Amino acid sequence: MRVRTLTGGLAAVLVLAGPLLNGPAEAVPSAGTAPRQVAVDVLTYDASRAGEFKAAVDRGAAIWNESVESVELRPAGSGESADVRIVADDGWPRSVPSSQGGGTVYLGREAMDQGYYAIRVAAHELGHMLGLPDRKPGPCSDLMSGASAGLSCTNPYPSAAEKAQVERNFEGAPAGALLGRS
Ligand SMILES: [Zn+2]
Repeated sequence: MRVRTLTGGLAAVLVLAGPLLNGPAEAVPSAGTAPRQVAVDVLTYDASRAGEFKAAVDRGAAIWNESVESVELRPAGSGESADVRIVADDGWPRSVPSSQGGGTVYLGREAMDQGYYAIRVAAHELGHMLGLPDRKPGPCSDLMSGASAGLSCTNPYPSAAEKAQVERNFEGAPAGALLGRS
């Protein structure tokens, strides 16, 4: 887990890549930009074992990155230990938090074989990694309603309430606070 600093959620004016790399960084806000600084938690993920669902995982992560500002899901670099591991298997999709925080998402083929939409399933399971519980039964407009919204539901986007919950989970929290991460 790393923390990056953004201004106004738009212009990255100050990247804290670690004092050993950059030394003291100079923040240079662009003209007219309110200098509201927001700590962004970065959760890395490893989809190398996601098999045929790798593209769905990347899309699900991109949807979360478009939807919230306080946390970013980013592919782990080679040799980097990922916060979230994604594994395709033959069971039902599920998420297993690890004691260190993050955890493992199993993208079970059983659901996709039944016709559930892989991108919605991936975004839903990543929602668990961002601290959201299941809310079943629930409408298709909710991501965390999962399979209870039915086979016809292909919505892969979190609702406004779900986005707000993730922002609350990460915003203002010291890096590592969620799920006992340290
Ligand atoms: Zn779930």
